[in-house]
Amino acid sequence: MKPFTIGDITVSSIIEREGPIRPPSVMFPTSDTATAMRHLQGMAANVWSPTSGILYNTYQTFVLRRRGQVILIDTCVGENKARPPHFNYSKQPWLDGFAAQQLSFDAVDVVINTHLHVDHCGWNTRLVNGRWLPTFPKAQYYIGRREYEFWGEQTKRGWELPGRIWTDSAVPVVESGRARLVDMDAELEEGVRLLPAPGHTPGHFCVSVVSRGERAVFIGDLMHHPIQCLEPQWSSCFCVDQAMASETRRRFFEEYADTPTIIVPEHFPYPTAGRIVRQGSAFRWKFLDE
Ligand SMILES: [Zn+2]
Repeated sequence: MKPFTIGDITVSSIIEREGPIRPPSVMFPTSDTATAMRHLQGMAANVWSPTSGILYNTYQTFVLRRRGQVILIDTCVGENKARPPHFNYSKQPWLDGFAAQQLSFDAVDVVINTHLHVDHCGWNTRLVNGRWLPTFPKAQYYIGRREYEFWGEQTKRGWELPGRIWTDSAVPVVESGRARLVDMDAELEEGVRLLPAPGHTPGHFCVSVVSRGERAVFIGDLMHHPIQCLEPQWSSCFCVDQAMASETRRRFFEEYADTPTIIVPEHFPYPTAGRIVRQGSAFRWKFLDE
């Protein structure tokens, strides 16, 4: 992500993986290829590959700093976790990116997970002598109570992969006493408040950050690609409730379109942050500085 500021807060990111990911037909099951291609033709080559038609996604952790406080939003896939082959790429880039931020694990004050999918809570924990321990031993972790309970229920029902994620990346943090399970509209820290955004997962939330009259909203997986501004009804193949995800997205667009609020989607490629602009009965994505 291209760094930016919100009042006296600086925002940058640590990238775990970036590049081509899936064609629109796979990423958005209700999309149609002709419409997708028509939209993509008008978009820059940082968000898709004109030769293959594949969409680009980035996996990243946002780093917010103000007056010495360090806040991380979403923690990518992590290391040593038994995950499907798609997620078994090198984890060194994230560690290198973390080091490049001049950070140590001890220096992180706050960790926020917008939801408990595989790519949003992985670095919550690390395997140390065979045990999963909080990666950031001094941090206050914030995890949505609804989200935590939902994946706990799915784990008991035998949903295998989410169960593993919940068990190795969320439960150890809660058991260590470092996590606070919060409501989806909780006020976390000065100027940092959650906004409920259910659908992608039942407990998915956005994080609103305000400083000196400026505002940014970190939207997690409310959308995965700028093409969804043009087609808000296209939910991703990862959305637990596709209809609710679409409703949440449209309501969010209605509220934030044509406002100065900076929108920060987890998976948008460089420069990542931008704004939503109204375009007829739909919307358009505009990267900062565009
Ligand atoms: Zn995601």
